[in-house]
Parts: sequence; C-alpha cells; structure tokens
Amino acid sequence: MKQLIFLGAPGSGKGTQAKVLVEKKNYNHVSTGDLLRGEIKKGTELGQKVDNVLKSGDLVKDELVLELLKANCDLSTGAYIFDGFPRNIEQSKLLEDHILGDFDYSAVYFNMPTETLVERLTARRTCKDCNAVYNIKFLPPKQDGICDKCGGNNLFQRDDDKEEVIRKRMEVYGNTIGPVLEHYKSGGRLVEIDASLPMKEVTEELLGYLG
Ligand code: AMP
Repeated sequence: MKQLIFLGAPGSGKGTQAKVLVEKKNYNHVSTGDLLRGEIKKGTELGQKVDNVLKSGDLVKDELVLELLKANCDLSTGAYIFDGFPRNIEQSKLLEDHILGDFDYSAVYFNMPTETLVERLTARRTCKDCNAVYNIKFLPPKQDGICDKCGGNNLFQRDDDKEEVIRKRMEVYGNTIGPVLEHYKSGGRLVEIDASLPMKEVTEELLGYLG
C-alpha cells in the first residue's frame, strides 16, 4: 500500500475519511493537529510552547512539528495517512527527506469551497475523552451531547473552531497550500476529490481510487 498525504483546508473531512480508511483498509493515521493537542492536554514542555499558537490559528514551527511527527510514525510497520502535514512547501520537503524516503506515496486533495468549510467547522464538536469528531448539522451523535464511541458526555467545541479563529486558519491555509498542491501535481502524485459531496460518497471515491 502507498503512503497517503491528505491535503485540504481545516474542516474538509480529512480526519473523518482517514478514520474510515483505518477501519476498512488497515492504514495507520497520524494527525499533527491531534498530536499537538495531545501535548497541550498532557502539559508537556512542547505543549506549553505551542498552546497559544494553536489558539491563534497560526502554524507551529516546522521543526517542532516534524520532530513530533517523526516520534509518532514508523513506516516500516505499514502504510500511513499523514493528516495535517505538510502545511507548506518546506514541510513537503521535510516529509520527503526525513520520513518518506524511498516509500511510494500519493497526495489526496480534499477540495471544498471556503463558505462550506466555515459552515462545517463552526458545527464541529470533538469528544474530549476519545477525540471522536461530530458535526451537529451533518453528522450528529445518536444521542444529543453523548459520544457514540465512548459514551462520555464531553463533546466540546475546540477553541480554534470558533468563527474568528476559523477565518484566520483559512487565511493561513490559503496563503501556504498553493505551492504544496503544485509540487505534488507536477510530480504526478496528486489525486483530487470533491470533498463537498456527502461523507459516504467521498469514501466511495477514495476507495475507488485505492482499489
Ligand atoms: P488541525 O487539527 O490539523 O486543523 O491543526 C490544528 C492546529 O495545529 C493548526 O491550526 C496549527 O496551529 C497546528 N498544526 C497542525 N499541524 C501543523 C503543521 N503541520 N504545521 C504547523 N502547525 C500545525
């Protein structure tokens, strides 16, 4: 199996689809956003350093994220989905030089209009206990406020899913992603999917591509 790089704006469904592929295709999933939030939750030195950066919607320094990513993936054990990394062209190169090496890979671009993204993100809720993600408009939990997966009642709105920060995250994304997409496109590795389709249809598109 090829390694997969998931590209797309915050809220385009990368994390949700990655979780489906973990179940159906046995991929490993590594999300730099989840790793950083984990460090903040644990109160590690790195967590304390990056807390305010995440709250502002800006990007954490490339080297810090790279080190965290390296410590949390081992490609010799199976294929990975990289979710949230790379965010800029420098990170694309770091990923190739320090992690992908000779492994074969493709980049999947979750394309979606900005207005749909903002609408989706403000409705996103995350489980504090197990990280499951819901959307109160499009993918609500079966019981209001209760996580389907772990049964906890700690569904919350991430600080950076509030509208003002979302706009900032979109701006950061828009300013950095162009060269990344171009990089994979010119290398013949880019697969584009319409991420505004219903979740199941996006999954079908992905599975069709993976064969
Ligand atoms: P995400 O969950 O992927 O939307 O990431 C949440 C936040 O974590 C981002 O707004 C950034 O502050 C930080 N972050 C996640 N991945 C990266 C990355 N590859 N490079 C820099 N910052 C990142």
